[in-house]
Amino acid sequence: MTATTKVSRPNDLSAFWMPFTANRQFKQAPRMLVSAEGMYYQTDDNRQILDGTAGLWCCNAGHKRPKIVEAVKAQMDELDYAPAFQMGHPKAFELASRLAQLMPGDLNHVFYTNSGSESVETALKIALAYHRARGEGQRTRLIGRERGYHGVNFGGISVGGIPTNRKTFGTMLGGVDHIRHTHLPEQNGMTRGIPEHGADLADDLERLCALHDPSTIAAVIVEPVAGSTGVLIPPKGYLERLRNICTKHGILLIFDEVITGFGRLGAPFAVDYFGVQPDLVTTAKGLTNGTIPMGAVFATDTIHDAFMTGPENMIELFHGYTYSGNPVACAAGLATLETYEEDGLYTKGQELGQYWEDAVHSLADLPMVKDIRNLGLIGAIELESIEGFPTKRAFNAFLKAFEKGILIRTTGDIIALSPPLIIEKSHIDQLFGTLRDVLKEID
Ligand code: PMP
Repeated sequence: MTATTKVSRPNDLSAFWMPFTANRQFKQAPRMLVSAEGMYYQTDDNRQILDGTAGLWCCNAGHKRPKIVEAVKAQMDELDYAPAFQMGHPKAFELASRLAQLMPGDLNHVFYTNSGSESVETALKIALAYHRARGEGQRTRLIGRERGYHGVNFGGISVGGIPTNRKTFGTMLGGVDHIRHTHLPEQNGMTRGIPEHGADLADDLERLCALHDPSTIAAVIVEPVAGSTGVLIPPKGYLERLRNICTKHGILLIFDEVITGFGRLGAPFAVDYFGVQPDLVTTAKGLTNGTIPMGAVFATDTIHDAFMTGPENMIELFHGYTYSGNPVACAAGLATLETYEEDGLYTKGQELGQYWEDAVHSLADLPMVKDIRNLGLIGAIELESIEGFPTKRAFNAFLKAFEKGILIRTTGDIIALSPPLIIEKSHIDQLFGTLRDVLKEID
């Protein structure tokens, strides 16, 4: 990055109640980002921070990409807002067609949202309404997975399986159950890429079918690679097995691809990467390279067509958002897809995958490192917990890393890395060289 941006720090930080943040601690020693370009953020004290997390898993093409910036500016000039209820604008249709072309199989229909959380709520509601439209209204149960993250709205935390995100918020949705997570440290510890053991954990779904009667189950939702819980890679054959059980019992399979979508694994979607076809796919984040809030749910022809019956003047699905298909977001989305294609970013995880994997696993010799996991351009380093302080060590690593000029993300004792896909070998060296120093210092 060349230009430095001068932005003064606000005097009063009290009004902004920051999300997922230790507000009191942060406000004593704030970390302020004021500009960004390519692989780097710049802080208000003029430091360059290498972005090891693509923002929050979303800026897959890096920052300040000219095509996206121009498209957003031009769209603001042309049409700033248009409702999507009973009217439309061309870019919403154009983007949906491009997205449907990108997504494999018959996931040909796109419902717009504004975030990953909204995509999850939308997918769950479509699943319920689909069964009802087909005369199977008794299918109301939803199945999630332990340690799953599906955003923060009530449906999402109900099917989600991260205890801290649930336990202060009451009773959740009724009729929800969970299968076990796929983390098997004893069998799969320090695995490079896809772990060998654990496909049979998918059979938990058969147990729930036996328990509840499968004809009461509407859908199962999983992240193909669980991200926010600390990167859990699905064991070999696991997703196929889940698919087969769903098909056998008429249960819809939802892949939450909010982080795996748009190239993270070295293919456009996890659907391509694993070759397993779900019925609904949720996305957000990389859809607009993180620039304008937008999400999308993909539905198969079968699901979509089940709604397209009845009188033509009837609204088929009573669901949607004021900002569904917002024109500025659509313009950002179109420019983002072009940028990904022009830069060849969908396959970057394959090209750099080995180098990345070696770099992530190069930290294995450090004594505090308990496990390492990776896939595509995702990496996780799990640290030994300090008794009584289960999050302290990784969070200290985050603070120290920021001081030393790299942005990492931590969840519990796990450091998660998911850089922009424009990353080069020199950045990977910087990221892991610095992280090694950080981990040695905090030991
Ligand atoms: N699903 C998954 C798999 C996610 O990783 C996230 C965000 N990390 C969400 C849903 C929620 O997305 P958002 O924060 O945009 O609501």
